[in-house]
Formats: sequence, C-alpha cells, structure tokens
Amino acid sequence: MQEKRQKRLISSTMAHQNFPFATKIGQHSLLLLSDLDGTLINDAHYNSVFDLVLPNRHLLSFISQLSLEATIFFHIVTNQSGISRNMFSQSQFLLYVSKLVLYLELVYGIKTSSVQYCPHLPEHQCNCRKPMPGMVNTIFNQHSNTFMHTIFFGDSDCDRDLASHSSFSIQFVRININSFSLIDLL
Ligand SMILES: [Mg+2]
Ligand SMILES: [Zn+2]
Repeated sequence: MQEKRQKRLISSTMAHQNFPFATKIGQHSLLLLSDLDGTLINDAHYNSVFDLVLPNRHLLSFISQLSLEATIFFHIVTNQSGISRNMFSQSQFLLYVSKLVLYLELVYGIKTSSVQYCPHLPEHQCNCRKPMPGMVNTIFNQHSNTFMHTIFFGDSDCDRDLASHSSFSIQFVRININSFSLIDLL
C-alpha cells in the first residue's frame, strides 16, 4: 500500500515536470474544450463503436493532471455528420458517448460537463458545425463564472478556426495524436 502510494507520488512529480503549464495555472478554474475524433481518441472513420476506440492517453493524462492543479470544467465539442449520413444513428452515438464519458471518469478521473455534438451536414449551414461557434457559445452560456483560461484541444483547421473566430478568448492547442507535444502550451 505504502509502496503503491509512493509510486503514485513519484509518477505525479514526474508528470508535473512534464507539464510546466499546470504550475502556472495554480488554483484557478480552467475551461477545457476538446474535439473528439483525432484528438481525444483515434479517428476511426465514422466510428461509433466504443470497443474500437483508442484513447489518446497523453492528452487524457494531461487533463487528469490539470484537474489536480486547478478546478477544471471539461466539455467535448464534436462534429458528427455521420448521423446525417446514416453511418450511425443518434442513439448509437449517444450510447457510445455515454460509455466514453464513463471511461474518462473511471480511468482518468475526468468528469465531463457536457458533450456538444453537431449532427448536421455542411450543406445544412447550421450554426453548430465547427468552425461555427454555436456549440462553444452554448458552453459559455452554461458558465457564469469567469475563467482564467479557456483551452481548445483539436486536431483540425476547423478547431483552430473556431477558437480564433470565437468572440471569447480561447487558446487553441493543436493535438497530433501520433506525436503528442505540449509546445503550444509553454
Ligand atoms: Mg478531429
Ligand atoms: Zn449543426
């Protein structure tokens, strides 16, 4: 037990060294927004089967570490046009997402505040499909407190454009799931 605790402390210290950004945050609250496919998990083409998911353990460990350093509010923001393309149904997607949310909490201690998803096609010209700001605006409207910092983790240009076009101040951090680095955060 003692040894286990020690191991945990050591790995926590090591993680701390790897994540200097966390020390800058201190006790403040952080709003963390993350894309799903290609960012939090591997981008299996229109995949909705949880068993086939490969989580991005680097990013998830990082978020988990941040949650020890600061009060975090974590939201997933994802385009899911596969629903409109009849690749999978909305209920299949919701079942998949509920398993994912449970997994994040059980394995990484990350509580997900909400999962925002756009089921539309580009030609629907909705206000929620990234890079449009609809989903992010919904999230900001849910939080009355002011955050020291808002970060958007994403792997694509639409994530970057959403962050840069938002009327809120959002730091975009591009995630390369194959070679995770935190260069943008330093
Ligand atoms: Mg993506
Ligand atoms: Zn939409």
